[in-house]
Amino acid sequence: MVYPKSLNNLINSLKILPGVGEKTAERIALAMLNFDKEKLESFATAIIGVKNKIKPCPICHNLTEQNICDICSNENRRKDIICVVEDVKNIFLFEKNSLFNGQYHVLGGLISPIDGTDPDDINIKTLFDRVNKGDIKEVIIAIKPSLEEEATSLYISKKLENSGVTVSKIAQGVPMGADMEYIDAMTLENALSDRKKIS
Ligand SMILES: [Zn+2]
Repeated sequence: MVYPKSLNNLINSLKILPGVGEKTAERIALAMLNFDKEKLESFATAIIGVKNKIKPCPICHNLTEQNICDICSNENRRKDIICVVEDVKNIFLFEKNSLFNGQYHVLGGLISPIDGTDPDDINIKTLFDRVNKGDIKEVIIAIKPSLEEEATSLYISKKLENSGVTVSKIAQGVPMGADMEYIDAMTLENALSDRKKIS
């Protein structure tokens, strides 16, 4: 069966979403046909709002609608410890479970000699700038174990070798290749408290 053009457009638009294939896109598009107009309009506004209002925090690269994100501007959090994560969604995992009360730094990628991802391609210089400003005592690397994680951790620890800052890595309770978002809070809490000093 051939769908009308506008419905086909919607299906094709939905298919660009991660994890949405042809069948799922079809199902969502058909379900949307049954939504009333108001609901669809608020849905569309929400999508556009994300793009218009959200930007990266200039300090930690977390997402924010303000000039500086809620975490960086929170005076009640520890300022001397930075947890380095790969992706913004990792922050939500820590925060949802109240596992950490320091600062974060979102790399937005990992160093990969195989894929040719260099330190310049990720948000790593700003991490060193933060550390070099002083006040930081420890940098905790909280990234799921992989070859890229190894390369990134090594780079960070080498760069900070003589800075007087402790660099540690969350414990290997996090299995190799495990997606951080599927790790339960207890495992992550243990991995954080059993972190190992690497330089
Ligand atoms: Zn921030």
